[in-house]
Amino acid sequence: MKQYDYLIVGAGLFGATFAHLAHLKGKKSLVIDKRSHLGGNIYCENIEGINVHKYGAHIFHTSNKKVWNFVNSIVEFNRYTNSPVANYKGELYNLPFNMNTFFEMWGVRTPAEAQAKIDEQKAEALAKMKADGVEEPRNLEEQAQILIGKDIYEKLIKGYTEKQWGRKCTELPAFIIKRLPVRFTFDNNYFKDSYQGIPVGGYNKLIDGLLVGVETKVNTDFFDNRKYWESIADKVVYTGQIDEYFDYQFGKLNYRTVRFETEVIDEANYQGNAVVNYTEAEVPYTRVIEHKHFETFGDAVYDNPKTVISREYSTEWSDGMEPYYPVNDVKNNKLAEKYRMLASKQSNVIFGGRLAEYKYYDMAPIIEKAFDAFFEV
Ligand SMILES: Cc1cc2nc3c(=O)[nH]c(=O)nc-3n(C[C@H](O)[C@H](O)[C@H](O)COP(=O)(O)OP(=O)(O)OC[C@H]3O[C@@H](n4cnc5c(N)ncnc54)[C@H](O)[C@@H]3O)c2cc1C
Repeated sequence: MKQYDYLIVGAGLFGATFAHLAHLKGKKSLVIDKRSHLGGNIYCENIEGINVHKYGAHIFHTSNKKVWNFVNSIVEFNRYTNSPVANYKGELYNLPFNMNTFFEMWGVRTPAEAQAKIDEQKAEALAKMKADGVEEPRNLEEQAQILIGKDIYEKLIKGYTEKQWGRKCTELPAFIIKRLPVRFTFDNNYFKDSYQGIPVGGYNKLIDGLLVGVETKVNTDFFDNRKYWESIADKVVYTGQIDEYFDYQFGKLNYRTVRFETEVIDEANYQGNAVVNYTEAEVPYTRVIEHKHFETFGDAVYDNPKTVISREYSTEWSDGMEPYYPVNDVKNNKLAEKYRMLASKQSNVIFGGRLAEYKYYDMAPIIEKAFDAFFEV
């Protein structure tokens, strides 16, 4: 008999959900995390009474009723609706592309006028490609223009995409943008999902709720004493980097990361919205997040005379930085597949979560994955 049924490496949403399900079934888990706090990337740091999303803005959204009911059984969610605004050289546009955006861009007032304008611009882009003797779009710039036309591409897509990828749109492959959805309604709700919101009191409440009755240890790196941690539980649930688990034997996987510059401002309401995208290339950051707008609405914004903002800089990843987004190019996908093959042969280890799968997942799918992993055991 070992001390624990599960040793769970990583107190992120995957590890915490798995631990919660195990606890409900009367199983004993120990959750360890190398960071100084629980919660993984959804952890919030309280600064000036405001929950600051330390690892990037997180908005919970799903159409899966089971997942929505599950998270709401742990903590109540508020009515936050993601409606980002784009700032292009001081001009403001609503996102995602909808009738408000088209009115702001061209002064068009009806869906028919907007459609006609977009069709006209798409036709111009196609004609230009034809004149250049080009059949298929050769890069992201050409692809975006035949999908949406020049104005929206140049003001709302070009600079932002170049900052995100660290490369010119003319050097990026066309397949990155398959579709550019447009809405011919005055609807600024970014997500199409049936449910969205932020936990009342912040994400730490969700994690703490999931981990009620579960033993946890922070500042504890699995690899500092791997043999010991493996010896104390029947099974290991591993949510760290998959290449690290296998000692990087085939080489290191690559990521893209984000650097955050967080600042307290002596102003109650800095930008009037949680998310403002800066879409011109000349501004070095991609977005400014004003965290209080995730949890306070209307006049309540003025109850706290201060605010906290984070500027986000999309950055090339190197050792020691946070590995945020997998790079899904051919080289990294092949490497990840080799590690996944090794993982599938480890009978006593469950690999789960975004790092152990080397796949980007939103929070709701991560919860579904943790459910699947637990009930497959
Ligand atoms: C910038 C950014 C913004 C995002 N925004 C959204 C959003 O708006 N909406 C949405 O639905 N999703 C969003 N996501 C996705 C969301 O963050 C993930 O779905 C979720 O956090 C994944 O949980 P996880 O448990 O797999 O990973 P993580 O949260 O990364 O947890 C893994 C944990 O394992 C720990 N760990 C790793 N190695 C070891 C080790 N050797 N020993 C001990 N501990 C270890 C880490 O410290 C970490 O705490 C965003 C992601 C990023 C990167």
